[in-house]
Formats: sequence, structure tokens, C-alpha cells
Amino acid sequence: MESCLFCKIAAGAIPCTKVAETDHVLAFRDIDPKAPTHVLLIPKRHLSESAADLNAGHGTLLGELFALAADIARREGLEGGWRLVTNVGPDAGQSVQHLHLHLLGGRALGWPPG
Ligand code: AMP
Repeated sequence: MESCLFCKIAAGAIPCTKVAETDHVLAFRDIDPKAPTHVLLIPKRHLSESAADLNAGHGTLLGELFALAADIARREGLEGGWRLVTNVGPDAGQSVQHLHLHLLGGRALGWPPG
């Protein structure tokens, strides 16, 4: 999608600090990190605005997203634990309308989140 920030990052039109990628997923560091490790994982293709639009047909891609997140967590040394978050809509603070997971770790994470 032309106007989408994460589509531009996926296309290389806006730079990012890449952490890893697969054929369908890109992982890069959040520009405003909320934890020592804060990595965003996005499908390279704009397949949905958020988790609200997903269906069972997206299963393979979601598996790829989760598997890459676990791989990055291992490589970042997050033995103490880590969290995956996906924000949906204004009450959750979603600011970019392109499905993404936040991988957070490297400190104790409060629960429940604010
Ligand atoms: P959300 O608020 O859940 O939609 O998450 C969007 C995330 O994208 C926020 O944590 C932002 O800090 C992050 N972000 C915005 N612009 C960039 C960028 N150019 N590079 C990396 N992360 C970004």
C-alpha cells in the first residue's frame, strides 16, 4: 500500500535497522524502544491492517511470524522471558495500520499491561 509506513520499510524506501527476514516476514528494531529488546515483525505484504482482519487462511504466515520471533528471542539472549504484543485499534494504541508484532524483552515486563 503506497501510503503505508511499514510497506515503505518493507520495500526499502524508508531505512530500518533490520534484525532478520524470511521470504515473507521482516523484523527490525522499533525506533522508540519500550524495552532493551524491542523488535517489530511485519508481513512484507500488506495483508491486513491489524489482527482484527485475520482468518484461518493466514495460518502459514502467522506461523512464520511466531517462529521468527522465537528465533530472534533466542538470538537476543532473552532467557528470562519475552512478550509478543499486537495492538488493535485506538484503545490499544495502534499507530501503524499494517499488521505487526512487537517482540519485547530484556527487562521484567509488568502484567497486566497499562
Ligand atoms: P503500534 O503503535 O502498535 O501500531 O506500533 C507501531 C510501532 O512502530 C511503534 O512502537 C513505533 O515506535 C514504531 N515505529 C514508527 N515508525 C518507525 C520507524 N520508522 N522505524 C521503526 N519503528 C517505527
